[in-house]
Amino acid sequence: MGKGMVYLVGSGPGDPDLLTVKALRLIQSADVIFYDRLVSDEILALIPTGVSRFMVGKASGHHCVPQHEINQLLINAADKNRTIVRLKGGDPYIFGRGSEEALELNKQGIKFEVIPGITAASGCSSYAGIPLTHRGMSRSVQFITGHFREDEPLEIDWEKLVNPQNTLVFYMGLSSLDFICQSLMKAGLAADTAAAAVQNGTTMQQNSLISDVSHLTASVKQSGMQAPVMIIIGEVVTLADDLNWFISNADEFQSENTIYESVPA
Ligand code: SAH
Repeated sequence: MGKGMVYLVGSGPGDPDLLTVKALRLIQSADVIFYDRLVSDEILALIPTGVSRFMVGKASGHHCVPQHEINQLLINAADKNRTIVRLKGGDPYIFGRGSEEALELNKQGIKFEVIPGITAASGCSSYAGIPLTHRGMSRSVQFITGHFREDEPLEIDWEKLVNPQNTLVFYMGLSSLDFICQSLMKAGLAADTAAAAVQNGTTMQQNSLISDVSHLTASVKQSGMQAPVMIIIGEVVTLADDLNWFISNADEFQSENTIYESVPA
């Protein structure tokens, strides 16, 4: 059994100030760090010089290192090091495959801990001025993947998602955005339901776009948004005009972020 402890650490959606105290402490005391592509440069800058770091992460559809090899890297590292940090974007257990790594570590008898992080849904919505729930407007929120394993077609029970008092948050939804919006409307979601796309949420490069479900795809295409993008659908999106503190304070932050006008198709 390896002597090391593997920490599966959530690094949040990008803003280094959103790291937990524990995540920061571990980043600063690790012997070796394996990180995902979505971990921001500002967070990587917090790794002390001299600490070995390896990018093993994936962009949507492009796996840098296959999952079984990542698992093996962690197992090998645990044999030689005391503190191994597996740094992941957002929260390790929300569409982050952290549980697959944890199951493998458990199988191998390697000790591990999971440090939750602020998931992109929370980070992007807060910084785009969209509360995921709001009394009288949204009573529930659902986190949904817009991308299935090995690009399999999205098989989702769309009818179950359609409820005017439900907020829908799609991770990895950019490439199937048109299909998602069309499927929701076919299942009965009103075409004028408010919808937002948030790119690079919580970072100085955040861009957000407010539209409705029937125009969102065209607006996103026209804006040229690239991943990572979070899609938020529901009446709560209408509050963004009033609650968009990050954009309103943009001058103060010297941020490059923009809010696009919705572009009807
Ligand atoms: N474990 C991560 C999610 C990994 S899936 C978490 O809890 O946040 C990757 C998807 O998350 C991206 O395709 C995008 O939809 C979303 N995402 C992550 N960071 C983001 C960011 N800063 N801005 C917008 N979307 C983000």
